[in-house]
Amino acid sequence: MRAVDIIAKKRDYKTLSQAEIEFFINNYVAGIIPDYQMSAWAMAVLLNGMNLKEITALTLAMAHSGDMLDLHKAVKIAVDKHSTGGVGDKTSITVAPIVAACGLPVGKMSGRGLGFSGGTLDKLESIPGYRVDLSPEEFIQQLHDHGIVLTGQSADLAPADGKLYALRDVTGTVPSIPLIASSVMSKKIAAGADAIVLDVKVGKGAFMKNLKDARELAEVMVAIGKLSKRKVIAVLTPMNEPLGCTVGNALELREAVEMLHGTGPDDYRYHCVHLSAYMLLLGKKARTLDEGISMAEKAIADGSAFQKFRELVIAQGGDVSFVDDLEKLPKAKYVENVYADQEGYIAEVNAQEVGETSVDLGAGRAQKSDKIDLAVGIKVFVKIGDKVRKGQTLFEVHAQDKGKQHSAIERLKNAVKYKKAPVKRPPYFHGVIGM
Ligand code: URA
Repeated sequence: MRAVDIIAKKRDYKTLSQAEIEFFINNYVAGIIPDYQMSAWAMAVLLNGMNLKEITALTLAMAHSGDMLDLHKAVKIAVDKHSTGGVGDKTSITVAPIVAACGLPVGKMSGRGLGFSGGTLDKLESIPGYRVDLSPEEFIQQLHDHGIVLTGQSADLAPADGKLYALRDVTGTVPSIPLIASSVMSKKIAAGADAIVLDVKVGKGAFMKNLKDARELAEVMVAIGKLSKRKVIAVLTPMNEPLGCTVGNALELREAVEMLHGTGPDDYRYHCVHLSAYMLLLGKKARTLDEGISMAEKAIADGSAFQKFRELVIAQGGDVSFVDDLEKLPKAKYVENVYADQEGYIAEVNAQEVGETSVDLGAGRAQKSDKIDLAVGIKVFVKIGDKVRKGQTLFEVHAQDKGKQHSAIERLKNAVKYKKAPVKRPPYFHGVIGM
């Protein structure tokens, strides 16, 4: 077999066999197939697609490229969740302790920010000392002892995805349904959870820009889950405007902890409570979605979810005084408002623009090696459908540099669109696949 023939086959719209896909992935991980051939192949897949059989073979080849965790050494049943990436998406930080507080173990490996979308690990690192590099043995032990883990992906888990993802990020090959589905599902299968809730984002601040593509991605991932004997559902959620009211690492961590105290924006709360409920349902802790919702709300109201989060932070070496006193979290030097320049109804708060502006302020990376600034970011005070008057505050820009702050303010003014007539609020969910 030769790599060039496999690339040409996909270029010519032909179907690849399992053996060809395994050959390509195994030799790429081994360093025999170079990045330039993998780039050409990834572009051919992006342009010409794959059928479900090919995507499943690709997912399993990537999952088996490294360690496969067996969480049953630690717990009877473990649930996981995964978001396809969005702006202001701090859901895992809230949902993991809510679900764990309800007695269902959550072992989750998260990622860093990518492009304009933020990453859970960066947000958690706002807490000094918090370790995101647990070994597989530490992961299993902590899951057993505390029923909750939120850490980074170990280098030995689905290494094919780690290597391929970094390449896709710089070769324009991220927004491909076969490549996203296999990337997500290979990690989830290797990480060992029995039940997985996928949060598939759709809209301006997501990789899937329309509902048709998001639905197709969700259906493919659910089908792969079924073939791998995991219980998988996918929730389709809008990502045209940022989730909640903060974008940026320490700002988002603060909002997540405030949510665990029972305060915070409606969209974010609804999202967290429902995602938790789906996890509880899939993990058989709740018999119905409504029961899951009540359990999640109770865990917030009685403080057990917050206590679980404290337990997590302590277990992973974080300084819990930063969680108890949120004023200690990193703060930016300069804070300035962006005001509405007209009155009307908000028709758009462009999530991608807000996400990119936050990255430009220093909250994300332009290149993998960039150091991020945990303190900078944006508070978002308006949602689609809100009525605003001229001069009302739309955003608060947290910056370390006056020049960057000025550019951010100008850019954010253009991220908002107004209408004279009332605008319907978007739904919180577009639907669920796999139930
Ligand atoms: N999230 C992932 O884990 N992989 C992708 O390819 C896209 C989003």
